[in-house]
Amino acid sequence: MSQLRFKVVETAFDRKALKVEIPKERPTDYYGKYVFNRKKMFEYLPKKTYDALVYAIDNKEPLNREIADSVAAGMKQWAIDNGAKHYTHWFHPLTDGTAEKHDSFIEHDGKGGVMEEFSGKLLVQQEPDASSFPNGGIRNTFEARGYSAWDISSPAFIIDNTLCIPTIFISYTGESLDYKTPLLRALNSVDKAGTAVAQYFDPSVKHVFSYLGWEQEYFLVDEALYAARPDLVMTGRTLMGHESAKNQQLEDHYFGAIPSRVEAFMLDLEIECHKLGIPAKTRHNEVAPNQFELAPIFEETNLANDHNLLLMSLIADVARRHNFRVLLHEKPFAGINGSGKHNNWSLGTDTGVLLFAPGKTPKANLQFITFVANVMAAVYKHNGLLKASISSATNQHRLGANEAPPAIISMFLGSQLTEILDKLEKSTKDELISFANKEQIKLGLSQIPEILLDNTDRNRTSPFAFTGNRFEFRAVGSSANCASAMIALNAAVAHQLTEFKASVDKRVADGEAIEHAILTEVKALITFSKPIHFDGNGYSDEWKEEAARRGLDCETSTPLIFDAYLRPESVDMFAKTGVFSEVELKARNEVKWEIYTKKIQIESRVLGDLATNHILPVATRYQSLLLDNVFKIKSLFPADRGAKIAEQDLSMIEKMAEHMLVIKKSVREMIAARKMANKIESEREKAIAYHDTVYPHMDVIRYHIDKLELMVDDEMWPLPKYRELLFIR
Ligand code: ADP
Ligand code: MG
Repeated sequence: MSQLRFKVVETAFDRKALKVEIPKERPTDYYGKYVFNRKKMFEYLPKKTYDALVYAIDNKEPLNREIADSVAAGMKQWAIDNGAKHYTHWFHPLTDGTAEKHDSFIEHDGKGGVMEEFSGKLLVQQEPDASSFPNGGIRNTFEARGYSAWDISSPAFIIDNTLCIPTIFISYTGESLDYKTPLLRALNSVDKAGTAVAQYFDPSVKHVFSYLGWEQEYFLVDEALYAARPDLVMTGRTLMGHESAKNQQLEDHYFGAIPSRVEAFMLDLEIECHKLGIPAKTRHNEVAPNQFELAPIFEETNLANDHNLLLMSLIADVARRHNFRVLLHEKPFAGINGSGKHNNWSLGTDTGVLLFAPGKTPKANLQFITFVANVMAAVYKHNGLLKASISSATNQHRLGANEAPPAIISMFLGSQLTEILDKLEKSTKDELISFANKEQIKLGLSQIPEILLDNTDRNRTSPFAFTGNRFEFRAVGSSANCASAMIALNAAVAHQLTEFKASVDKRVADGEAIEHAILTEVKALITFSKPIHFDGNGYSDEWKEEAARRGLDCETSTPLIFDAYLRPESVDMFAKTGVFSEVELKARNEVKWEIYTKKIQIESRVLGDLATNHILPVATRYQSLLLDNVFKIKSLFPADRGAKIAEQDLSMIEKMAEHMLVIKKSVREMIAARKMANKIESEREKAIAYHDTVYPHMDVIRYHIDKLELMVDDEMWPLPKYRELLFIR
């Protein structure tokens, strides 16, 4: 064992050999090199095709077949000119990550050879023939084959000599089988609903866009050490490992310089991102050792999400080039911070107004307050659903741990915005009327821009925080597809805006002045949404009690959290916004429960195997060394003296025996619990059983293994320890 350990360190990265090929061109020259963006479209497509395609993209209209053939021809030529040999429909299945099926461009040419072929048929949506496919239960529908079609709002790109076409993935019966389809539906609904409300303030608004700026946190570990940790390889997190003596307590990593080996990796990654049109901008160390962050400039949500998914596969590849492995798991190491993926989210109009940013005029500020109040109401009404949208078997380790938001959704607004909302809420009818008549002084609305500009008020403990011109949804996990959160959030806000508009329109129809109608409704929303607003310490136990008193969703069991998708108010909201049918919601929840079960099942198996095959044998061997020692001492020394000298060893032997007994017993019980759970038919009940009866054993087993780690001879310990994994040399 000790030799293996030695070898591991020897094969670790050689810093002197570190080389990144820095392109001679400037980023502006290679940015988007491998993206079929408008510039390439213009270059490769006939003018008529280019115009039709751009029109379809801008107006969210489908491509017709003739145009599609012409687009496909140009796209193929561009791809081949850039070394592509294959193409793939790139889509986002309900499992983690992305899926691809590669096909070569070649077709028979009828003369015994091949030609390069890529038709419009392969790009755009094909008419499905629903009648020829069975449509049994929900599961059948869900498992039925589907078809994919290019999402023209997201440009094609080339990776590893393959043309990747971002696509939606739908079953033959029309149900979405992916994340992209419902995301596009949610973005459409928030566009419609947002535009209708924004037109109160500016009738020339034609579209409202949703923007997303994600901040991806991750850990890096040395490739060789990673390979020696079966738990990391199989589950993405360490299932055991005692805290190292030095952790993040000095907080020196966050402020520290980026290690040069990591810097080389980051530079390489950024260059790759830029070539693929991902606007990577910010990089820094995070709080925990070996933890880092990458953030791009925000983009329209659908594109931003494609870019995040692309980044998640890119980062893994680039890390390997540098003999690193990247860990995107939310909690790879116990006892130190986990990783999140803050979703900075905002809405903006096609006229260039950010709707969560205060404006320069009272009217603009009324618009700002209107949109903020509607977001508050949406988040309040759907707090359980929003939590479900970010919940997973992996994120459950992070939420509620010391460094991450609790498993309760609340909203941070900051003192200045709070003050403005309070004023508005307390204003009398007369004051509202006077504001509506543009005598806004009493409400202080005209002062908003100045005050909010220096809003440096940052509360890191809030899962959903207002940060000056956007909201930051911080509860999203680092390995998640942001679409899940963005679907729920945009749909909930769209639904709320539609209801708001209906109420305002009714008042106006009854003869109220429009500004007054808006203010009255906004005031009502502020009062209604009070329980969601919390600026205090989200990590505290008092908050958990307070949140329960306020009626916020405090469920902590992930399988039960998923129930929120099927509550009547969620089903209604998703139906009205056209984002999910009830059939889709049910089917998708089945998948969520199934994935939950499988993840815990795999972890539990790996832990059981490691305990039985790695830890217990080594502990036994060390224990028997100690026993041997005791025997020898006792045979050499007089009885009294011998007993005294052997005392420590004996006590160690006994302590080890106790830990080993608990481990053996718990592994046995865990396996029995798994067997019971596996017999359950219902995916929901099975997931609950895994959560309630399998998972608790894992904590117990880990606790006792970690104790043994501190006792057993370091040379014998079979796994790299935290101190080795966590400090990059
Ligand atoms: P932090 O201090 O939280 O790390 P950053 O300045 O790094 O904030 O920004 C985080 C992300 O928020 C970036 O991706 C940035 O582009 C994005 N962002 C900034 N403004 C907006 C906005 N109005 N809407 C959406 N995202 C935004
Ligand atoms: Mg942030």
